Amino acid sequence: MILNIDIIRSFYKSLPDKIDGIRKLLGHPLTLTEKILLTHIVNRSGISGLRRKEEYADFLPDRIAMQDATAQMALLQFMVTGKEQSSVPASVHCDHLITGKFGAEEDLKTALGMNREVYEFLSSVCSKYNIDFWNPGAGIIHQVVLENYAFPGGLMIGTDSHTPTAGGLGMLAPGVGGADAVDVMTGMSWELKLPEIIGVRLTGRLNGWTSAKDVILKLTGMLTVNGGTGSVIEYFGDGAESLSCTGKATICNMGAETGATCSVFGFDASMSEYLASTGRGEVAELASSYKDNLTGDPEVYADPERYFNQLYEIDLSALEPYINGPFTPDRAIPISRMKEEVLKSGCPLKIGAGLIGSCTNSSYEDISRASSVIENALFQKLSLKSEFIVIPGSERIRTISEEAGFIEIFRKAGAKIFANACGPCIGQWDRGSTDGMKANTIIHSFNRNFARRADGNPDTYAFVASPEIVAALSVAGNLLFNPLTDLLFNSERDIVMLPEPTGRTLPQEGFKGTVSGYQQPPADRTNIDIKISPDSERLQLLEPFKEFDLQNFQNMPVLIKAMGKCTTDHISMAGTWLKYRGHLENISENYMTGAVNSFNGKINSVLNVLSGNYESVPKVARSYRNSGLSSVVVGEDNFGEGSSREHAAMEPRFLGVGAILVKSFARIHETNLKKQGVLTLTFVNNSDYNRIREDDWFDIIGLEQLAPGSKLKLTLNHSDETVEYIEAGHSYNENQISWFKAGSALNLIRKSK
Ligand code: SF4
Repeated sequence: MILNIDIIRSFYKSLPDKIDGIRKLLGHPLTLTEKILLTHIVNRSGISGLRRKEEYADFLPDRIAMQDATAQMALLQFMVTGKEQSSVPASVHCDHLITGKFGAEEDLKTALGMNREVYEFLSSVCSKYNIDFWNPGAGIIHQVVLENYAFPGGLMIGTDSHTPTAGGLGMLAPGVGGADAVDVMTGMSWELKLPEIIGVRLTGRLNGWTSAKDVILKLTGMLTVNGGTGSVIEYFGDGAESLSCTGKATICNMGAETGATCSVFGFDASMSEYLASTGRGEVAELASSYKDNLTGDPEVYADPERYFNQLYEIDLSALEPYINGPFTPDRAIPISRMKEEVLKSGCPLKIGAGLIGSCTNSSYEDISRASSVIENALFQKLSLKSEFIVIPGSERIRTISEEAGFIEIFRKAGAKIFANACGPCIGQWDRGSTDGMKANTIIHSFNRNFARRADGNPDTYAFVASPEIVAALSVAGNLLFNPLTDLLFNSERDIVMLPEPTGRTLPQEGFKGTVSGYQQPPADRTNIDIKISPDSERLQLLEPFKEFDLQNFQNMPVLIKAMGKCTTDHISMAGTWLKYRGHLENISENYMTGAVNSFNGKINSVLNVLSGNYESVPKVARSYRNSGLSSVVVGEDNFGEGSSREHAAMEPRFLGVGAILVKSFARIHETNLKKQGVLTLTFVNNSDYNRIREDDWFDIIGLEQLAPGSKLKLTLNHSDETVEYIEAGHSYNENQISWFKAGSALNLIRKSK
């Protein structure tokens, strides 16, 4: 067993007392979400005053999982701290950098060649810092976590949006930014605004063509893409217990599409069976003996309106299959209404490709049910009318599916089997023909269907459905086909109907310990070299940022005064830049290139006061930095809103931005900037924004006395030799002031180790 059973045993042993204490402190029965969160809170005695969606609290997660794209910068930062190993168990999974084109074997070979330096770096850094490493081809992060690490009642964070998949095994597992993962690896706590809790009562039983996927397709339509924001979705009811563990994981995975922090199911027999089948019988036994602590209190589920912030109900017996899309996962269409809805949308009716699998839907149950559809089609002399691609979630799943004959059925029908990796789910799909660039329709069992997501083509109309529905529609080759009611002509011109899918939730003999691609950290880690070539374009060792020096806050030119909305996308664009996410110098070339300069209304064109020319933001920043000058960035409201992106805070520090002065900050970006040692200031009078001129020079006065709640005076030296003073506030606490003085939070950790 890869999971450390002693840690789990001691975790469960202390659980009943902790939960009793929490119940007494709060004076009411507890939801499962409260049980998990509050048993992981740093200050348990202070929980009674905490208000949902209003107050922040610090938590201590049990585990961290990172995928290869986000792990690069997280681990480079961790190295700066000088720590000898990660403070909590952690794992890295190589899944995002593999392009699907010809099929698993060839595509994997290509990826190993193209990404060799990244994989070698991740492998060596994991060995050095006692982190589990999963080689390319071993599987997609969330499937591998579900099969090996997740345990009921645990709290995990992962540097990927679909980390909540582990909620299918009773774990709270939010997706976070790399900066949060670094904090937890270094022994710091993880901060979260106490979420609201959305209850979803499931009743009845799935039947026929309907699957667990349809639960979340329907709920995404009910909540929309932001209805779950700031909330945990907690499922309960007899319908919840009737679902397989992997079906629950699919629901929790795609809960991210509602904006929810994460989703969770209470421990039940299906989880116990899954744990035993994947070789974790001891965890199953332990969890069973603590089962009351691993689900919500009965009083909560008997009177849910009282304990949940919102309540939804779905009757599985009455649920029909859904197809969501195009271009957004919350456009939920019951299959009986597809014909009228699709005809209105104007998308091509012929399906170019059907794809099943990914981290969302590649369980044994999914693969077996989809293969039963294809097998029945072949038996009835039907064939696939669309290209059909299978993406197993892990090598374990691929192996047991191969042994059961499912993969052979797909192959016989002409399907391609891609590597156990993200591939087309994250745009890593080389369709190899110009067809992919025309308007075309695809249907898949992934979770997201935004424009360009699968193949980079804005004219690919992508729909999301269950694997069995994707299989059926790929046989028909047409989006209007409804397998519940419609007939098809076979190769002999007979009229046939596809029978309902059948499948098994788990292989009869279990997963048989078929773990592959796992690299355990060695016991002796003293002589491990971290491999980074000095010529690398994709990886670069980080140098610790310099400590606070008062001189750097005098005589500061304005780099840019940004106008209007300035999100983390404006500050550090994604897209092609993501290939440099392990190379701070290269990715810094996108700094503020999406922001509008208020002095000329242009993007990426700012005055270089040294040369008198208008140049790109990164070029001017480098020019100031290389002349020994720190610069100032000015902005308006909610500066840095959007997804937490650590590069958006590292880039200004790297480019010599000393201070950022705005009307208000988005909280996470402000904290990220503080962690990197950039001085974050806010206007005391917002109208002072208008007094800042393009060629001003700033002096910041009073920094030596920086203290919580203090105010700073800023001198604006105008080019006409007049001087103005403005006042700035800040939100630093004592600890954050120590980060600032040390040059960064990581510097402080390094000094105190
Ligand atoms: S398969 Fe898709 S959703 Fe899952 S981790 Fe990979 S990119 Fe993310």
